Amino acid sequence: MTTQNKVAGAREKADKYTEFVSRGFGKDLAKRLGLPQPVVLRRYSPQAPLVEGPILVLGQGAGSDGVSRLLLDWHQDVRRHATPKEKLGAIVAVLDELQHPEELSATMLAMGAALRDLKKNARIVTISRSALASDAPAVAAARNGVDGIVRSVAKELRAGATANGIVLAEGIPADAPSAMSALRFFLSGRSAFVDGQFLTASSLGAAEQPDWEKPLDGAVAVVTGAARGIGAAIARTLARDGATVIAVDVPAAGDHLAAVANEIRGTALQLDITTPNAGQRILDHAMARYGRIDIVVHNAGITRDKLLANMDNAKWDSVIAVNIASQLRMNEAFLASPNFAKNSRIISVASTSGIAGNRGQSNYAASKAGVIGMVRATAPLLAEKGGTVNAVAPGFIETDMTAKIPFATREIARRLNSLQQGGRPIDVAEAIAFFAQPAAAGVTANVLRVCGQNLVGQ
Ligand code: NAD
Repeated sequence: MTTQNKVAGAREKADKYTEFVSRGFGKDLAKRLGLPQPVVLRRYSPQAPLVEGPILVLGQGAGSDGVSRLLLDWHQDVRRHATPKEKLGAIVAVLDELQHPEELSATMLAMGAALRDLKKNARIVTISRSALASDAPAVAAARNGVDGIVRSVAKELRAGATANGIVLAEGIPADAPSAMSALRFFLSGRSAFVDGQFLTASSLGAAEQPDWEKPLDGAVAVVTGAARGIGAAIARTLARDGATVIAVDVPAAGDHLAAVANEIRGTALQLDITTPNAGQRILDHAMARYGRIDIVVHNAGITRDKLLANMDNAKWDSVIAVNIASQLRMNEAFLASPNFAKNSRIISVASTSGIAGNRGQSNYAASKAGVIGMVRATAPLLAEKGGTVNAVAPGFIETDMTAKIPFATREIARRLNSLQQGGRPIDVAEAIAFFAQPAAAGVTANVLRVCGQNLVGQ
């Protein structure tokens, strides 16, 4: 077993409380005392079924018919009406034709009736349209109503089940390839720690997904901060999905970096990303070794926490330099290069601290909120070349970074979400691998929280 695998193995077993309350005496005790009852989440493996059980598709109209047809093409067991007492793996509510909030009741009450028959780790997914300022007020009210529904249902579900939504931009049909790639992600174990969140399908997307098990076959991906933690998980996950990975980290992490790169048959590039020509160094390495570069994952990040009243230059500047300034500079180099592939992908790791703010993290939150701003403004620049740029905002993830938090604070932070547990590096990695897929070509400028619906922020 490599050092990295040992570390990963230790992390898998890190949450002993979840294991204790998942069965037998521990389960009974937690129930009687009203303690949190997290369950072991259903996570993706290439052999596992997309959903464990039948999928109930709710809604009337062409959208729901199209979605049902696609689910059947994916060999899913589809129902258009609930059968009493039958346990469901998922409910998909297609709400793309809403004109007034009064139209919500039929579908939502049908969903409500079926919620009691959900299997463990089931999925609820809504498909609706984005509410625009140009909509008639009743239309916008109905569309925005779905937002409230998803966020509330996600908080009501138990036993590892999640609720998420797909939002269609104007003119995008419910069964568009972009929407269907998001649906597949939400239904699968890849989205285990994504709860109460939305993905927007902004354009039609790629008509064809070559291979759902190896969607990144032939692609070359760069992952910064890949020597450990979330970055190592991203590198392994992209490699599992078929990509050749260039693992980047500081020279001081060279041994761990080499171990990760060897394990996944990629290459290691020792590089401090704050180096002014870091983008060019990455491009040169990729072109010399593989003759292409398709996917860039900006994962490297640091924290230097202090209350703003006690902040010093070094702490402020180093966080801004690593977490955002380096990404801006590297992206400039990538976008200017003729070698940055058409249809390329950039995915940045932000943080829920950048959305909700966090005491003692004004520098970190500035950098991570900055990442979100950067992603939104970069999307139109990449769209010209058919590329996408998205951000993933992790909440509490079990890594070396969070292991440093004092025990009591850590235990509270870990439970304060709808799934009542911390996420794992693989959960962040799966969301990134989704954005990198060819099928997600119509999904850009999104910020997806991987936080188990953390109670902090939206
Ligand atoms: P980590 O500290 O375990 O790993 C970060 C990696 O980045 C390390 O290998 C480090 O050497 C590398 N790195 C740091 N500075 C670098 C530089 N200048 N050049 C190249 N590499 C550099 O952190 P993690 O928990 O795995 O976090 C990964 C990312 O996820 C970070 O951007 C972090 O802010 C973000 N994040 C983490 C959590 C969490 O709960 N762990 C939550 C939200 C966001």
